[in-house]
Amino acid sequence: MIIIKAKYLIPDAEGCIENGAVAVDGTKIRHVGTFHEIKKRIYCDNVIDLGNAAILPGLINIHTHLDLTNLHNRIKPTGNFTHWVFQIVGARVRWKDDDYVSSLEKGIRLCIQSGITTVADIANTKHSFSILKKSPLRKVIYKEVIGLNPDHAKDVMKKACLELSGILRDDLLTVGLSPHAPYSVSKELYQSVAQFAYENTMPVCTHVAETQDEAEFLVKGTGSFPPMLRQLRALSDTWHPPGLTPVQYMNETGILATKPILIHCNYITDEEISLIQSSGARVAFCPKSHHFFRHIHHPVRKLLNAGVTVGLGTDSLASNDTLSILDEMKFLFQHYAILPKTLLSMATVQGAKALGLESRVGQIREGFEADLCSIRLPENHTGDIYCQLFDRDSKNIFTMVAGRICYTIS
Ligand SMILES: [Zn+2]
Repeated sequence: MIIIKAKYLIPDAEGCIENGAVAVDGTKIRHVGTFHEIKKRIYCDNVIDLGNAAILPGLINIHTHLDLTNLHNRIKPTGNFTHWVFQIVGARVRWKDDDYVSSLEKGIRLCIQSGITTVADIANTKHSFSILKKSPLRKVIYKEVIGLNPDHAKDVMKKACLELSGILRDDLLTVGLSPHAPYSVSKELYQSVAQFAYENTMPVCTHVAETQDEAEFLVKGTGSFPPMLRQLRALSDTWHPPGLTPVQYMNETGILATKPILIHCNYITDEEISLIQSSGARVAFCPKSHHFFRHIHHPVRKLLNAGVTVGLGTDSLASNDTLSILDEMKFLFQHYAILPKTLLSMATVQGAKALGLESRVGQIREGFEADLCSIRLPENHTGDIYCQLFDRDSKNIFTMVAGRICYTIS
């Protein structure tokens, strides 16, 4: 048994306990309250005092590509998505296995240092599974599938299923499937993923409605995507547009019925928001990556008001300068009119819900997994707890996953 105490304990997005503490027994949370109350209930002299800090549920990053971490500072910010795609392709052209491995290892370190305890990662290579499995993080790893040629859909699925069947699940690891995006995955492949995921209750995520050009491509078959895809030799001459907006198209393929995480949703109509809400799909909002691409204001408030579960993602360091969900909350605190409690909820409870882990993580609650972080607060700050938490100088000093201390600085 171990007791962790600090000036504040924020057990969920609603409450805040002054002089709070949490007692951890093995991998689980045993008691939550003030330090005084807990000391009265149990005898335990193993106490970590984190001082002028707030203990929070471990932060949850619901969308990233850790295998791109080494692209940090190598891709120029751009409002031109196709230009960005070509930068990525060019930067990785000479990458070998070691580059992916070191990228993943660095990404994992950065997550843990910043207080992330659960990460949802897209696996483009087999290394994502092997390297992340060894890490102390809780993770959902989505095997990425790509292919616009409908004739290849069966083979792509067969290969993906074979790879997934060889992965040994454990308490910290969930596996899923990620058809990349509507401009890189055929309708047939989306349908196969939907069917397999539905039958095997496997989580799904897909990038959707990321750019205006994507909607134009799907509705009319025009814009910047056809030339880019032809240059990448991905678009066959027989392809024709479905004539639907991105979320409508996801509904038609059957993907929405799997209640997937829809990554981005930057350009969606009110009708599409209703469709997301009624389907039970969730949304991953990546604020700083959204800013990197100079997109118009994100419809996050409309989604939240409609009752959609919205979690936060960092996306990769190819379109962001941080893998920290605390940094994403700070960015939103400055630039979006969203209540601090809602920000915290997106980074914890709603993130857990988006990943189907809400009965185990996302709150500091008796019986829940002992996934915690602790944010050191700035000295001599007179603002309320949220102003302190989202101050430029606050930073994570402690990360625990399933009762294991993964990171601490005094
Ligand atoms: Zn992504």
